[in-house]
Amino acid sequence: MKELLDKLFHGKMTYKNVDAVALILLATGFVAALVILTIRGDNTNGAIEILIMLVFAAVGIWLRYLYWRCPHCEQTLPWRVLKSQMQHCPGCGHRIDWR
Ligand SMILES: [Zn+2]
Repeated sequence: MKELLDKLFHGKMTYKNVDAVALILLATGFVAALVILTIRGDNTNGAIEILIMLVFAAVGIWLRYLYWRCPHCEQTLPWRVLKSQMQHCPGCGHRIDWR
């Protein structure tokens, strides 16, 4: 699956930018839900809007799961750690280049 995605993104999706992409997906899902809510008006229970937000969020989380890995040992990096706080991979100790 990752091979397919790498082809789709031309290898441009990496641990360096997956956080930004996931965030954009979350924001897009939120905006899309708001737009649909506005279009549909008051006679809705919000189920479709919530579903759309969940789908976008799930894709974002899934991409982070796939790409939030050490470039050296491929081990998943700690989820709650921001990149600015992590200079070395906790798994193999390899220095992580964020530039
Ligand atoms: Zn590592």
